[in-house]
Amino acid sequence: MGRKLARFVQTTLVLAAILFGYTTVSDSEFDLWKGQFKTLAVAQGIRAETVDLAFRGLLPDSKVLRLDSKQPEFTKTVWEYLESAASKERIAVGQDRLREYAPLLDRLYVQYGVQPEYLLAIWGLESDFGRFTGRHSTIRSLATLAYAGNEERRDFWGKQLLSALRILQHGDMSLVTMRGSWAGAIGHTQFIPTTFEEYAVDFDGDGKRDLVNSIPDALASTANYLAQSGWERGKPWGEEVRLPPQFDWSKSDPNYWLPTETWASENRVALADGTLLSGTGTDWAFLFLPAGYRGPAFLAFHNFNIILKYNNAQNYALAVGYLGDRIRGKPALLGTWPHDEEPLNHTQKAELQALLTAAGYSTDGIDGRIGPNTRAALRRWQMDSGFPADGYATQEHLSFLRKEATEPPAQ
Ligand code: CA
Repeated sequence: MGRKLARFVQTTLVLAAILFGYTTVSDSEFDLWKGQFKTLAVAQGIRAETVDLAFRGLLPDSKVLRLDSKQPEFTKTVWEYLESAASKERIAVGQDRLREYAPLLDRLYVQYGVQPEYLLAIWGLESDFGRFTGRHSTIRSLATLAYAGNEERRDFWGKQLLSALRILQHGDMSLVTMRGSWAGAIGHTQFIPTTFEEYAVDFDGDGKRDLVNSIPDALASTANYLAQSGWERGKPWGEEVRLPPQFDWSKSDPNYWLPTETWASENRVALADGTLLSGTGTDWAFLFLPAGYRGPAFLAFHNFNIILKYNNAQNYALAVGYLGDRIRGKPALLGTWPHDEEPLNHTQKAELQALLTAAGYSTDGIDGRIGPNTRAALRRWQMDSGFPADGYATQEHLSFLRKEATEPPAQ
């Protein structure tokens, strides 16, 4: 190949990489990396044969890198998310599974204390009850990501890859059976390898923890994870509630916990159907408003926070709780969602964070994701600006913050 042509090809490849947003990967570089990773793995006590077997003929997966570099621009509202997470069809399948797996689920309840419906809800959300456990080879995905994934997360992927190699070496799963999501989550309940190592259990007694081919192993592993994280046996995750008019919205804060009876007596909080809060005794709870003060309200108990340890997203925890309740036969929510509100997209969320931070309400980072720190900063700003302090970001807040940033402060 002439030098000009070579340069042209190289430029085209670099351009393609920039345009398609992923790193081009040369096999020889990857081979070099595999050699270095093997040294690291062996130094950590993994046998050279295990690494050789896992890495033999292994090529990076460009599809995984494309998925890793994708930024979600449009995000679902919580009501759109709940509608698909707890669809009629999923509730019906969950109820079928509840009957089908009753003996297993009862045994799991005795041993781990997690109600069957919430195990089913997690199974339904993670893999649609095993219909979509993922076909990506865990080793290949993790090796690709540890080698050329998002730079900030490469150490994390490397740790997961070491963990996957140990699982392989331990004999729980084989190179062929260890499969899951593009991001390395394995099987029915999508355990990442380090979670697998720490919490997976062999419940069907064949000597192997297999989260792809054994439903008893997968569900028991989830129950064990929740139990080890502090799940309170048989306790609810939350209750939909009704709030009195002129409520002090600043009390809807995940750090503000009160005994249920105090919510009822001093704050006049009732169950959504208007009946008295009861049955949960003196359990402590915080007030959770997933779509702000205009949407449904919940008292969230200790077990809600345990679901967050499984997946640290409030909407996920809500979906697990709600889907589980529906599988158990509870009615749909009574509160209405603010359907007229246009959700903030990723860019707008980042702009809101930047404006809040510039105004002296630090969101502790600007990443376009609304987490606990952003909600806390927004709540402080809402209080100072005369908005209901519900910590829920809207287009109205963004417009207001933009205006504040361009106008000189009032004299
Ligand atoms: Ca097993």
